[in-house]
Amino acid sequence: MLGLLGDEWNLLIIQQALLGATRYSQFMARLPISNSVLTKRLALLVREGLLARHEHAFTRTRTEYLITPRSRSLWPALLSIWEWERNWVTEHREALPSMQHEVCGQPFAPQLRCNSCRAHVSIASVSLSLGPSGTWERSAPAAATRRRSDSDAGNRGAGMFPETMSVLGNRWAAALLLASFLGTTRFTEFQGQLGAPPSLLAERLQTFCSIGVFTTSPADRSGPERAAYLLTDKGRAFFPVLVAALQWAHWWFQAPEGPAIVLTHHDCGEPFTGELTCDQCAGRLTGAQVAALT
Ligand SMILES: [Zn+2]
Ligand SMILES: [Zn+2]
Repeated sequence: MLGLLGDEWNLLIIQQALLGATRYSQFMARLPISNSVLTKRLALLVREGLLARHEHAFTRTRTEYLITPRSRSLWPALLSIWEWERNWVTEHREALPSMQHEVCGQPFAPQLRCNSCRAHVSIASVSLSLGPSGTWERSAPAAATRRRSDSDAGNRGAGMFPETMSVLGNRWAAALLLASFLGTTRFTEFQGQLGAPPSLLAERLQTFCSIGVFTTSPADRSGPERAAYLLTDKGRAFFPVLVAALQWAHWWFQAPEGPAIVLTHHDCGEPFTGELTCDQCAGRLTGAQVAALT
């Protein structure tokens, strides 16, 4: 899941496909992407079942890349990322447009609702714990520096989701964020759970603090090993993205022994799965009814 979602180009290509792009030339026209990067990412997305390559019988130039059920179901994650970046990240290279709910015609914000009891939820009313297939060995990266060697400039992304990529675009970072949502706060605990090299862990914690996703406990400034790293409001606001990504992963990459992360809604006591609603008309959102306002 992180391998696919932790790449800004993959997210942006899927987003454009959801908005109607199907041809190579359309992706080129809509994204500031190079030919070689687009070719590589399209091949990867086809291989992973996120796009289906369709060639017209007589004219091979009319190749189309079509959305599949696997990529169509990514819209809640993309919508949640969009909302988080719009609300919390001020240094966008291009301002992200607001979204319109086509059912009520209003610009809206998505809200997360419990599928069981239909109440709106935030991180405060949902608890996370590791499930049967949730081991850190599976979540932590096999080769920590793989992404860094992938260094041609075109791979750095378009800068549209800059901070989402800081927390999701690297498997160590994503595992660190998840550990934090599971209640870990200390350097040594993070290190023990993730098995991350100390220098790399320190660097990631520094990044999380500098973009304001973590803060260190003010009562305890006795060095990085002693400080408590706590989620800020901005960090907690990433919760809907985490929920959407986990639900997508649980649905499409099921482990036989059970889910990796178990979520419970305190208020109703049920296992938590979420759905997104419109804050203007309270209607349940579907991917086809959401458009960007330009
Ligand atoms: Zn509930
Ligand atoms: Zn609405």
